[in-house]
Amino acid sequence: MKNTFETTKVIQLKALCSVSSTIAIVSHTNPDGDAIGSGIALTRFLRQAGHEVRFFVPNHFPKFLAVIPGTEEVGIYGELCDAAHDYIADADLIICSDFNQIERLDRMTEAIEANVIAPRVLIDHHLNPPEYELSFSDTDYSSTAHMVYDLIEAWGGTEAITPEIAVALYVGMVTDTGNLSYGNLTPALYRAVASLIEKGVQPLEISRAINTQSESRLRLVGYLLSEKMKVESDRHTAYITLTRAEKTRFNHQIGDTEGIVNMPLAIEGIDFSAMFIETLDCIKISFRSQGDFDVNLFARTHFNGGGHKNAAGGRFFGPMNEAVATFTRIIESVHP
Ligand code: 5GP
Ligand code: MN
Repeated sequence: MKNTFETTKVIQLKALCSVSSTIAIVSHTNPDGDAIGSGIALTRFLRQAGHEVRFFVPNHFPKFLAVIPGTEEVGIYGELCDAAHDYIADADLIICSDFNQIERLDRMTEAIEANVIAPRVLIDHHLNPPEYELSFSDTDYSSTAHMVYDLIEAWGGTEAITPEIAVALYVGMVTDTGNLSYGNLTPALYRAVASLIEKGVQPLEISRAINTQSESRLRLVGYLLSEKMKVESDRHTAYITLTRAEKTRFNHQIGDTEGIVNMPLAIEGIDFSAMFIETLDCIKISFRSQGDFDVNLFARTHFNGGGHKNAAGGRFFGPMNEAVATFTRIIESVHP
């Protein structure tokens, strides 16, 4: 059986940390609960172990994630610019958490690339990981937060998990699995969840925070499902489009579209769902599937993206109607 956190690799990580005066942890653009939860947990854990650590993400995360203690310390690269750039470019060690391609760092990529000296460590659960000096990469994990949990256990035991770190890990685990409803729902995951609850996590409080939404987001969901969802039953596929004008109309805030792409999968016979979101510079596309259809491969092959087998994303550079036309042409032949 493979052991992602085998002793020799954990010793290597400890050694890398102990020779580094400053450590930068970085995670992906449009950070979600797992990016923020695993990043904060790792930051706090390494600080407790005596290291100088800062955690950066390229842009803002959804407001509800403030339920995690420590979100105020997360460096938003787009706002800090020079200070964040200098810290990352001068760091002695860079830990890449919860992403597999450097482009996922968006505008933060330049800061990482400016640092040609620091070794890279990867902690991630996506397919197609990059080659780094030290990689903890395992697609069997449903969240990077669960990986960080196992890393802490392998490093010296879960006693180091404070109630605050427990909340961060818990939020990562439950958000990346849609409240423990998809992904690799293993006994080990439930044991980790149980131990975090023993550390003081209040599941009801967290689920209330995660599921609370603004009136405008709820109305946006209603509008998209009734007016914008197209169902191609023969192709077992459904898709939704959202334009910039519609975002304005529904007072769109960061995180408001989170999870909507999963909704069409509830329709009987639908195994593939896509959501097209118009942004300033491209159409951002999310893909979800259930069963064997590999949306990571689909996103990589057709839409400059990637992700996991059942959850991936990509981008289209062109207008919305062309993105949708391209998509519907492809699904004539490629569909579950
Ligand atoms: P989402 O649809 O929630 O943005 O992303 C779903 C999954 O696909 C996430 O695990 C994310 O890491 C991955 N993903 C989303 N967009 C991209 C992209 O443009 N490139 C790659 N490589 N992965 C993506
Ligand atoms: Mn994740």
